[in-house]
Amino acid sequence: MNASLYLVPTPIGNLKDITLRALEVLQEAGLILAEDTRTSGKLLKHYEIATPMRSYHMHNEHKATAAIVAQMQAGQTVAMISDAGTPGISDPGFLLVREALAAGLQVECLPGATALIPALAASGLPCERFVFEGFLPVKKGRTTRLESLKEESRTMVFYESPHKLLKTLTQFEELFGGDRKAAAARELTKLHEEIVRGSLSEIKRHFETKAPKGEFVLVVAGAS
Ligand code: SAM
Repeated sequence: MNASLYLVPTPIGNLKDITLRALEVLQEAGLILAEDTRTSGKLLKHYEIATPMRSYHMHNEHKATAAIVAQMQAGQTVAMISDAGTPGISDPGFLLVREALAAGLQVECLPGATALIPALAASGLPCERFVFEGFLPVKKGRTTRLESLKEESRTMVFYESPHKLLKTLTQFEELFGGDRKAAAARELTKLHEEIVRGSLSEIKRHFETKAPKGEFVLVVAGAS
């Protein structure tokens, strides 16, 4: 263990999607920071990991960060996990990484599960260059963000919740045109995994007849 802080990716559905090294780091760390200790508790129990766990999430990260940095400076090795996927990717992580680096500590992120890469790679759309947009702003700044993507020529990747999916697809149709190629990847690695590929209009029609359920990644081709 060379680093003070390890970002450790955890499964996005299928519990088997965790690396041997991730399990080793979680086992050997002095403390695990988890977004939701109940959710992560199930994963740790499954792998019989008994490392002490503390909650660290968007509502307490500003308060908690300085004390955690001090603990790491005193020699504690910390592993950070989020509810699913890679910490820092549309999840808490950035603040602690920034402060740990500012304090001269070593930070590592293990490679592993994240939703955007499998969605992009299986979309059938060009993936040698892409932009990850995460969640679009819900209200303030949404139109500006969308407008800024109008001329984007790289493949675009978005995270979306099921109840906003149709609204977002409608806005994408208006912005990019209904013929633009796209893919909606749903419930990746889970029982009801589904990837719907086609034009934006076709994908929207699909989810108008079959109500969107579960977690979604939207992949949209860039302007040609
Ligand atoms: N840190 C995570 C990662 O590395 O992908 C992302 C966390 S973000 C709070 C949750 C969003 O990721 C969901 O709303 C969805 O857009 C996407 N996501 C997570 N798991 C997914 C899955 N199994 N299938 C499709 N999308 C998923």
